Amino acid sequence: MDRIPEVAVIGAGIVGLCTAYALVERSAAVRLYESGVPGHGQSSGQSRIFRHAHDDARLVEFTRQGRAVWDEWADKLGAELVSQDGVVALGTPVPERLRILQDVGGMPVRAVDSTELRARMPLLADYQGPAMLDEGGGAIRTRTAIESLAGALGDRVVTEEVISVHPTDHGTVEVLSAAGREQYATAVVCAGLHTARLARGVGLSLPVQPAAHVRLTFQVGGAPPQRVACLQDSSGDFGEVGVYAAPYPGNSRYAVGLSQTVQVREDGSFADPHALVALNDRARVYVSRALPGLDPEPVEYLHCWVTSLPWSEDGMAVWEADGIFFAAGHNLFKQAPRLGRALAGAAVGEGLEEDLRPAAALGRPR
Ligand SMILES: Cc1cc2nc3c(=O)[nH]c(=O)nc-3n(C[C@H](O)[C@H](O)[C@H](O)COP(=O)(O)OP(=O)(O)OC[C@H]3O[C@@H](n4cnc5c(N)ncnc54)[C@H](O)[C@@H]3O)c2cc1C
Repeated sequence: MDRIPEVAVIGAGIVGLCTAYALVERSAAVRLYESGVPGHGQSSGQSRIFRHAHDDARLVEFTRQGRAVWDEWADKLGAELVSQDGVVALGTPVPERLRILQDVGGMPVRAVDSTELRARMPLLADYQGPAMLDEGGGAIRTRTAIESLAGALGDRVVTEEVISVHPTDHGTVEVLSAAGREQYATAVVCAGLHTARLARGVGLSLPVQPAAHVRLTFQVGGAPPQRVACLQDSSGDFGEVGVYAAPYPGNSRYAVGLSQTVQVREDGSFADPHALVALNDRARVYVSRALPGLDPEPVEYLHCWVTSLPWSEDGMAVWEADGIFFAAGHNLFKQAPRLGRALAGAAVGEGLEEDLRPAAALGRPR
């Protein structure tokens, strides 16, 4: 690093990495604090879905802009970051989601029949209900994204846990960690599960709802298909109304999760320790009914925290206090480059976008 950092970013999950990278794009001097290994928190595991479909047209537009940032950064970083194979969505919400997407415009989305569905999603059992294809969506190459962003940031990433971030009497922001006591012009907190705790230290009470989540990975039976879309199944035809699934790079494995999560107490403990195991079992039953193209014995389990906002499972917002910004929400992987650019802009004094302020409740169904 060639000069004293102006901006501290706390947390090297996908949101913090994208924020730091967007600050470097603007030639800002940045230090990114991470208590563990970059990408080991909610951003862990292989693959996430990039989908444009959301229940709030503002979030659809935000996501549409975000897709362009993923492409721009893929070129800069010299790596594929989102697959080209699209996302299929099933179930009765499809016509309304399609209407919102088409009203916003500018995205290749359309209804598909069962023949095209089979071609796009060869692992799926016979399905005759409403279906749509988001051709601009796909599987996010999560490990490649984390590793290439962390690599590009180099020694701007420091392995330290931040204990406190707070304003000083002379207009700067102080960050306390095992590495010492550092001052910055501003700070952006992207600490996932720990964002609410750090925000409380400056008097903000974030309505973040922590929960536990499980996702299972299955081996594809036989040779991996050349093309396979991500899946969002709200149909109930196979016994579940909230399922998402995405291929690993190479298409030989497919990760499947129920959108349902298990609420935990404020200290992170479980009221019902068996609830997560019950979700595991339901996901296995779903796979045996809906995805005959997969071997029904899971090869991996990913247990992870998620942090949602009360107005939507896709909700996100940024709180601001004394020159410190706190980002929170769920399903943020796809949004991270666009959100990172917005946070970088706010950190260098351009102001926070109105739609990201908590009062806007971005993501709330309208
Ligand atoms: C199984 C699963 C499937 C998902 N599917 C999708 C999907 O299909 N599409 C999608 O867009 N999203 C999806 N999500 C959500 C998405 O992965 C998360 O919203 C996103 O990864 C959150 O990133 P983050 O950077 O905010 O948080 P995190 O990845 O949790 O990063 C926060 C980082 O901050 C660090 N940290 C915390 N406290 C401190 C401190 N005091 N000092 C220093 N460092 C600290 C942590 O170690 C961590 O690395 C899914 C999530 C899960 C778990």
